[in-house]
Amino acid sequence: MTCKPATELLLADDAGIARAAEVLRAGGLVAVPTETVYGLAARADSAEAVAKIYEAKGRPSFNPLIVHVRDEEQAARYADLPGAARSLAEAYWPGPLTLVLSLRQDAGLAPTVTAGLDTVALRAPAHPVMRALLKQIDFPLAAPSANRSGYISPTTAGHVLASLDGRIDLVLDGGPCEAGLESTIAAIRADGSVDVLRPGPIDLGDPAESSSIEAPGQLAQHYAPGKPVRLNARDSEPDEFMIGFGEMSGDCSLSEAGDLQEAAARLYDCLHQGAASEKPRIAVAPIPDDEVGKAINDRLRRAAA
Ligand code: AMP
Ligand code: MG
Repeated sequence: MTCKPATELLLADDAGIARAAEVLRAGGLVAVPTETVYGLAARADSAEAVAKIYEAKGRPSFNPLIVHVRDEEQAARYADLPGAARSLAEAYWPGPLTLVLSLRQDAGLAPTVTAGLDTVALRAPAHPVMRALLKQIDFPLAAPSANRSGYISPTTAGHVLASLDGRIDLVLDGGPCEAGLESTIAAIRADGSVDVLRPGPIDLGDPAESSSIEAPGQLAQHYAPGKPVRLNARDSEPDEFMIGFGEMSGDCSLSEAGDLQEAAARLYDCLHQGAASEKPRIAVAPIPDDEVGKAINDRLRRAAA
């Protein structure tokens, strides 16, 4: 019997980032902090490396991955950037916005990254650790959230290890993620129009009502804590782990001050705590459906589905 090597855990300092670059060059898997959630990174130009992401996560292979780049210039190597894409990149990159664009024929990305689609999802992340890492390597990084597929996204190195210890090579610990919710995804159409596929930290309006599911992040059930979740709860039953907001503090408060940014940053931590608690059910206080509250409610509906 072969024994899986243990997952290395390093602080995201210069030495840690240099080690991560080395592991990635060799085709390994590294969990890296970003401003949204921790990403599970592999080199996007290697089919073998990308296959390891799907395997470690147990992710269905029809679910394409977001490719992380340094900037607009690097993005242009992999996709066509029409005017609308350039304007959005200039306004929001580096930052939590993913653009779905036409894949270039000569992109050289592993076909599994895009799940065989003729589009590719690109993002230039803002987190200093991810940026430092992207500067040290000459390939882009495919990086979905660093958790088992369908489960809650990780916003700390501890969450990553709880889900993927022994299945990946390295975790870079850069502290908790600031935005705490996955990036906004917008598709740029051939005619230059923009459709929001997934709401997120950047508010570009509401997702289009589309009949076909383009981004599996749109699936009704996702982000599941593995037990029933009751939304818009104004009080809690004795067998419920209560996630509070504002005046309702509960077992874990998203934000006592009623601040939506803080709530977004804390959402997955509270869901992880609720999942780990002895209580068989989770209740969540009402969250205002404004600004990033829309993205929080989107994730909560999927956690409850
Ligand atoms: P995750 O990294 O787990 O947050 O998931 C990435 C999201 O990006 C998924 O919902 C994907 O379906 C979506 N995505 C990635 N590539 C594409 C693409 N080419 N077209 C549409 N959605 C995409
Ligand atoms: Mg995910």
